[in-house]
Amino acid sequence: MSKRDYYEILGLSKSASSDEIKKAYRSLAKKYHPDVNKSSDAEEKFKEINEAYEVLSDEDKRKKYDQFGHQGVEHGAGFGGNPFGDFSFDFGGVDLGDIFGSFFGGGSRRQSDNRPRKGQTLQSRIKISFIDSVLGRIIEENLNKHEICSFCNGTGANKPSDIVTCDDCNGSGQVTRQRRTPFGVVNSAEICPKCHGQGKIIKNKCSNCKGQKYISKNVRTKISIPAGIKNGQEVVVEGFGGPGLNGGPSGDLIIVVYVEPHKYYAREQNNIHLDFPVSFVDIINEAKVNIPTPYGIERITLSNDIKSGDILTIKNKGFKVIGTKKYGDLKLHVKVYIPKMSKKEKEKVAEILKNNKDDQSSVWIKKVGDNK
Ligand SMILES: [Zn+2]
Ligand SMILES: [Zn+2]
Repeated sequence: MSKRDYYEILGLSKSASSDEIKKAYRSLAKKYHPDVNKSSDAEEKFKEINEAYEVLSDEDKRKKYDQFGHQGVEHGAGFGGNPFGDFSFDFGGVDLGDIFGSFFGGGSRRQSDNRPRKGQTLQSRIKISFIDSVLGRIIEENLNKHEICSFCNGTGANKPSDIVTCDDCNGSGQVTRQRRTPFGVVNSAEICPKCHGQGKIIKNKCSNCKGQKYISKNVRTKISIPAGIKNGQEVVVEGFGGPGLNGGPSGDLIIVVYVEPHKYYAREQNNIHLDFPVSFVDIINEAKVNIPTPYGIERITLSNDIKSGDILTIKNKGFKVIGTKKYGDLKLHVKVYIPKMSKKEKEKVAEILKNNKDDQSSVWIKKVGDNK
């Protein structure tokens, strides 16, 4: 597949200024960010936009691209791939405006970096039985929880005096770098690589958390699976996600619930379906029979006109409708059977029914035969 022209991707002319490139990139990156744009090609477009910006925002690469096209900036010719490196697209609840604000530097960057932020959302899976999905269940698990280190109060320093002003940037968080461009030498402010824009560095790291600012604990936790939960639904365990940043709260853990199929019960919406074998003797006698529901035995009285294929309904013995007080129903699919009988019993039944005027078979033969 041939590559699209980088200017075309950003909707710009070849004479676009670096400000125009930046502007076009910001608006397109926001529009196609996979976190906000759910269309199937958003991620591909987002990558394309980033690749174009990576080249066109760098005077040197742009010059090579203008001269040699894609070949001039291909891998091996200095192309670095994703300009965000290992940046993760999980923003853990931070709004995009902040993220983009901090990508593009300026005065807001340091503020954004030091602001408390919620940790990443993590995901995990759990398997439960069909009956658990009907009745609900509290599952106890040992889960990893990140807590702010109580030894350093989340500073990461061994003692408060170990936090000192960064001597590379004198606490500003920014350093001025000179870059040679075709238009001459340009001064640009960059994030201080030593303190990562924090303005402060830690001389001696906290011995308890090794400077991580949080410690990870195994905590016995109750996970509440609500009655009526569907296969693939999620349960959120708050505070068991990634560690918070700058003293912010931990992220959440999302547990995707996988419901194992049952050998006899099957779910359809909020109803439960069950095959129901019934002896014709019980039907004749209009007997009371036991039905095994997920909630225990229910007794029902059979009427003598039941036939195979009928569906009997036991109200409110299906799934709880989450968030309401309603329940689905249990649907019994009748399968009439002839009980095992001794030769003598069979003879007796045949004797009794000898003169029975059952014409269902002959009616059926005629109906099918007439349907030409
Ligand atoms: Zn610094
Ligand atoms: Zn610590």
